Amino acid sequence: MERSALESDIQFLPGVGPKRAELLRKELGINTFGDLIRLYPFRYIDRSSIVPIREIRPDMAYIQIKAKVLARELYGTGGIIAADNIYGQNQDVSGNGAPAATGSGQDIRFNLVRRMRVVVEDTTGRLEVVFFKGIKWMYGKLEPGKEFVFFGKPTVFNGLVNIVHPEVDNAPDNQNTRSGSAQQADALTMTGVYPSTERLKNGGITGKAMCRMQEHALNACLPDIEETLPVWFLKQQGLVPLPFALKNIHFPKDQQSLERARYRLKFEELFFLQLSLLKQKYIHSRDEHGIQMPKVGEAFNRCYEALPFPLTGAQKRVITEIRNDMKSGHQMNRLLQGDVGSGKTMVAVLTALIAIGNGYQACIMAPTEVLAQQHFKNISKYLEPTGVRVALLTGSSRTAERREIHSGLEDGSIGIIVGTHALIEDDVLFRNLGLAIVDEQHRFGVEQRARLWRKSACGMPPHILVMTATPIPRTLAMTLYGDLDVSVIDELPPGRKPVQTIHASENRRPALFKFMRDQIALGRQIFVVYPLIFESEKMDYKNLENGYEQIAKAFPFPPYKTAMVHGKQSNEEKKFNMDAFAAGRANILVATSVIEVGVDVPNASVMVIESAERFGLSQLHQLRGRVGRGSEKSYCVLMTGQKLSKESRHRIQLMCSTENGFELAEEDMKMRGPGDLEGTQQSGLPISLNIASLAKDGLILNEARSCAEAILEEDPTLSLDKNRLLMQELKKDKYNIKDYSKIS
Ligand code: ADP
Ligand code: MG
Repeated sequence: MERSALESDIQFLPGVGPKRAELLRKELGINTFGDLIRLYPFRYIDRSSIVPIREIRPDMAYIQIKAKVLARELYGTGGIIAADNIYGQNQDVSGNGAPAATGSGQDIRFNLVRRMRVVVEDTTGRLEVVFFKGIKWMYGKLEPGKEFVFFGKPTVFNGLVNIVHPEVDNAPDNQNTRSGSAQQADALTMTGVYPSTERLKNGGITGKAMCRMQEHALNACLPDIEETLPVWFLKQQGLVPLPFALKNIHFPKDQQSLERARYRLKFEELFFLQLSLLKQKYIHSRDEHGIQMPKVGEAFNRCYEALPFPLTGAQKRVITEIRNDMKSGHQMNRLLQGDVGSGKTMVAVLTALIAIGNGYQACIMAPTEVLAQQHFKNISKYLEPTGVRVALLTGSSRTAERREIHSGLEDGSIGIIVGTHALIEDDVLFRNLGLAIVDEQHRFGVEQRARLWRKSACGMPPHILVMTATPIPRTLAMTLYGDLDVSVIDELPPGRKPVQTIHASENRRPALFKFMRDQIALGRQIFVVYPLIFESEKMDYKNLENGYEQIAKAFPFPPYKTAMVHGKQSNEEKKFNMDAFAAGRANILVATSVIEVGVDVPNASVMVIESAERFGLSQLHQLRGRVGRGSEKSYCVLMTGQKLSKESRHRIQLMCSTENGFELAEEDMKMRGPGDLEGTQQSGLPISLNIASLAKDGLILNEARSCAEAILEEDPTLSLDKNRLLMQELKKDKYNIKDYSKIS
C-alpha cells in the first residue's frame, strides 16, 4: 500500500529541506506533513485592511500599514554608521572619515551594523521601523522614496511606538487595491498567524513561509485525509467534514467557513479527550470493587439530629452523592470542591459516620499539624452525641499516647482518626479502614495516597474523598479529573457577611495603620501576611522581619501585642504563637503565606496582604478566606507598590470586585497567558490542547462531554461497528493516558 502523504517526512515539503525540518522538529514537534497541517493558526489577520499610522496604538495586535520610506540609519556598537534619506542626502557620521553611505549600500561594512532604523510615513503620520537582523537585504530593499506594506506588531521603545522586524511587501499598485475589482473582492483576505519562535524566524520560517508550507502540505494531504468521526455523528452534531475543516482553518473561504471549521476541530479535540477519560472511568467503576456500605447507620442519624444548624442545600446534595457512591459496591473516588468556609468539615464528619455505621473505620488527614488539631477539635464536638471514639495522631504525639492509639486502631475501638502524614507511617494499622478523607489534596503526593490504600486489611480499597478549597474552573476539573467524580459545594452557609476588599499602595500606610488601630479598639484581630516565594527565601524573610519591626513600632506594647509565625519556626513555637492569636492574647498576627490554610479565628476581621501583587489570584482568595468567619464586618486590604504591571492591576481589581472563588479561578485561567510558544496554551493537562481552550470553550466542552457520555452509555467498550472510527482514534498514542489523576 502506498504511504499516506500525511506521513511524509517534513523535510520533503517544498521550501523545507533538512535544516528547516530540524527546526520544525525541535521548535514545534513537527515531523510529518500531517503534523504540520494540524498546527493551526491561533489568530487571523485581515490583510485587506491597512491601518493609518496615526491610529496605531502600542496595545494593538498585528497590523498592516502602507507607508513610504523617508530615511534609514545604520548603527554599529559605537553609534551611527551611515544614514540617508528621501532627499538623497548621504551623511557620513562615522566620525572616522569612512565613506558615506550610498543608496546601494556597497561601501557599507554590514558586518559592523547592529541595527537599522527606518522612518516611514503615510498621509497621517510617521513611524519607526527597526531591524536587528537580515539588515543587508532589507537595506537593499527599503530605498528612500519607495512605498511598502509593513506587517508587524507595534511595540513601545523609549516612549515611542515602533515596529520591530515587520514583514515587508511591495505596495500593490494603487488602482488595484480596495477599489474592488471582482477578483479582489473574492480574494482571500484572512491570513493565519501560526505559533512561532525566535529560532524559527531566524531560520527563515516566517509567517509568510509558514503559510506557503501549509498550502503545499494541504494540497499534498487532502486526498489522504480520513474522517475521524463517524458520518452519523457528524450529521447528528452538525459538524463539517474533516477535509473541509482543515482547509478552512488554514485558508478560510469566508468568516462562516472559518467558524464552522473551528467549531469542528475544537469539538473533535475536546470530544476525544472526554471520550478517553470517561472510557477509563467506566472501566474503572465496572472493574474496581469497593466496600459496600448499604446503610447510613445510627451514628450518622444522631449526629445529624444534633446539628446546631440546618445543612445548606449544597451540603445535602453532596452528601447524597457520596452516600450513593458508598452503597454502590464500587470504590468511591470523589473530589469535593468547596470554597473556604463552605462547610466541608461537616460533610467529612457525616461521610465518616456512614463508614462507622457500616462497621468500618475512617481516617481524616490534614496537611499540617495545626489544621489537624483544629479538625480534631471541631470534629470531636460534632461527634459528642454519637459516642464514636475519635483520636488525634500527629508528629508530636507522645510515645505512650501513640502506642495507645495504635492499639485502638488495631482493635477497632477508635472509629475515627484525625491526623497528619504521621497517619500513613508504616506502623499504623487499622482493623478495617473503610474510608480515607484527605483535606487539601494538593499537599499530598500520589505516593502518600498509595500508602493509605495499602492500609486496609479487608483486601478492598477504602473509599476516597479528597477535599479541596482551591476552586478549579469546572471545565478544568472535568478534564484534569475527568475520570473522577466531582462534587461541588457552591453555596456558603447563610449569614456570612461579605468581606470588603480594598486596594492601597504604600503612601496610604499611615491610613492603614490608623484603620488597624480603630479595629483593634473595637476588639478585633488582624492578620498581616507577607509573601514567601522560594527563589529568594532569604530576602523574603528579611521582608517579613522588616515588616514585623515596622508593625511592632507602630503598634507598641503596651497596649498592643503582636505575634509572628513563619515556616522557620519549630512546631512548638508556631503553635505557641498561633494559640496566642487564636485565644485573643495577640491583636496582630504577622505571618508568611505559609499561614495555615484552614486556620479559623472568627474574631479576626482584617486581613492585610503585603506585596499583594506577588500573589496569584487563588492564593489571595485563600488568604482572604481567613476573615469574614465571625459576625463582624470584615476587611481585606491589598497593599501593593505604586507601579503595577497591567496583569497585576487586573488581578487586584478582580479581587476587589468579586468574592466568588470559582469566578476568580476562571479569570485566573484566562489570564495565564501563552507559554513560551507564542499562540499555544500553557497547560498542566494530560494532553495538550491544540485549538480548544478550557477557558473559553466551556460550552463546546459540555456538549462534547455529554456526547461522549451518551456514546459510552450505549457502548462502553466502543465495540459497535458504528463506533469503529472512534475506537480507532482512541488507540493513538496521545490518548494513552495512564492514571495521571487517579487519587487512590
Ligand atoms: P471549610 O472547611 O469548607 O472551609 P468549615 O467546614 O470549616 O468550612 O465551615 C466553616 C464554618 O461554617 C464553620 O464555623 C462551620 O461550623 C460553619 N458551618 C458549616 N456548615 C454550616 C451550615 N450549614 N450552616 C451554618 N454554618 C455552617
Ligand atoms: Mg476546612
